[in-house]
Amino acid sequence: MTLPPGFQFSQASLQDYVDCPRRFQLRYLLALQWPAVQAEPVEEHEQRMVLGQAFHRMVQQRLVGLPEEAIARAASNAELLRWWQSFLAYRPITAFCGDQPGTWMRGEYMLAGGVGGHRLVAKYDVLSVAATGQVTILDWKTSTKRTPDDALRERLQTRVYPFLAVQAGAHLNGDRPIDPSHVTLVYWFPEAPGSPARIAYGPEQYAADHRYLTDLIGLIALAEGDGFPMTQDESRCRFCVYRSYCDRGSTAGRLDELIAAWDLGAAPEDIDLDFEQIGEIAF
Ligand code: SF4
Repeated sequence: MTLPPGFQFSQASLQDYVDCPRRFQLRYLLALQWPAVQAEPVEEHEQRMVLGQAFHRMVQQRLVGLPEEAIARAASNAELLRWWQSFLAYRPITAFCGDQPGTWMRGEYMLAGGVGGHRLVAKYDVLSVAATGQVTILDWKTSTKRTPDDALRERLQTRVYPFLAVQAGAHLNGDRPIDPSHVTLVYWFPEAPGSPARIAYGPEQYAADHRYLTDLIGLIALAEGDGFPMTQDESRCRFCVYRSYCDRGSTAGRLDELIAAWDLGAAPEDIDLDFEQIGEIAF
């Protein structure tokens, strides 16, 4: 089974393949709808997804110049308001990106690059490039618990975001190549504002990520039939919407377990990329 024409890889689709090749096949090659709920209780699960997306929207509104008070007044929920107050108290954008004149900065910004002849895209919550060439990637994680550093480092997002910033971001740096050692990825948690995860990048990691992503995307592109096996880690199936297709149980996992595992707020927007807004194509 070949990739659909024009298929574009993202950290979300690569993460799906790494977690379970069968899930990648069902979601991206067969384009099957989600027949099962991801976690129970359903209403609380949906509410948390909505809150995560709302927080991302509030920060974006601030970045485009809306007054902080107006954004706070529109907060529909006490938890969301608390996250916003946390954001205002810690001001992570200034803390991590600085406020030097000449800094380029955008929210919800998209970049596209090329790996092994295939397109790879990413959407950044915040991407900034200082006049010094220092690149900062900020990502909001609205999980109720702070994700451990080890788990963050294993995510495809942690590889793809800095990699693409280097590969496809030169136009944001006065057309000068971006030095990988000038790139920092920061995960910031409204629920743990004083405990961000700062992940430095560098040329060795960039080269390693290039090799890893080339091998992974090449493997997926060449896979056929049996190349998309079901994961052997059946604990993953408890939070997978394709359980019924795989005969891997009918009961969803509990929401609190899923939240502890990863951030709900990030997943939907990573899947639903708006490719019209991609800023650069660099194959
Ligand atoms: S239910 Fe399990 S085996 Fe099936 S796609 Fe989901 S994670 Fe993979």
